[in-house]
Amino acid sequence: MIQRGTVAIVLAAGTGKRMNTAQKKQYISLKGYPILYYSLKAFEESQLERIVLVTGEEELSYCQNEIVKKYGFQKVTAVVAGGKERYHSVYNGLMAAKGPDYVLIHDGARPFVTQDIIMRTLDGARAWGACVAGMPAKDTIKIADKDGFAKDTPDRSKVWVVQTPQSFSYDLILPAYQNLIEMEQNGHTVTVTDDAMVLELFGCNKVKLAEGSYDNIKITTPSDLSVAENIIRMRLNMEIK
Ligand code: C5P
Repeated sequence: MIQRGTVAIVLAAGTGKRMNTAQKKQYISLKGYPILYYSLKAFEESQLERIVLVTGEEELSYCQNEIVKKYGFQKVTAVVAGGKERYHSVYNGLMAAKGPDYVLIHDGARPFVTQDIIMRTLDGARAWGACVAGMPAKDTIKIADKDGFAKDTPDRSKVWVVQTPQSFSYDLILPAYQNLIEMEQNGHTVTVTDDAMVLELFGCNKVKLAEGSYDNIKITTPSDLSVAENIIRMRLNMEIK
């Protein structure tokens, strides 16, 4: 059943420098399909109403023709250019989403998002206004001082590694992003690494954490590609059985 007023913003405007390949990471082929295909497919098959795809300015027509048209993604209603930093791309996506009730912001470089994760974060956004996918940290985390010495060890049971989708009531996240962009335009330095953080800085709403999956990886470095191939193989085996 389609959930009216819900939009996925799928981000694919990064340059993927850490991958060290000529091709941008979102277009690298995994078992015959570009990484971005898997992320879009998950939202195409979901209960969400629409998808806004954010890509590099120079890849707009490539994405329209070689991804959206080629694979028949009918829910993609806008393909827009992103910006220099991830938060610029999110802001452009929010503007292009044009007033839905809820937005689910997703890294196009996370191809293994599932229907359960999408629905958990949407339900969480409906209940609490803001809800992001994540998983409890498997490793112990250290806070380092400026000289590279361990300064503190947060209680691991309270440490989560966050993922995407990061899902919000549109009326909460849009003003928070507008504040962030305004602050930057006024010459302040801004460092934000996820969307929840924008709400933590500029909103008055708590952000609920919802269970993602250890497979919901962000493909960042070459070694992630072999992990990704194993995940696909495991999924195919499960479908065959
Ligand atoms: O660079 P990083 O891996 O953290 O990027 C996470 C996601 O955000 C990727 O899907 C990437 O394409 C996207 N991104 C973007 N615009 C940027 C930087 C990153 O859409 N300027």
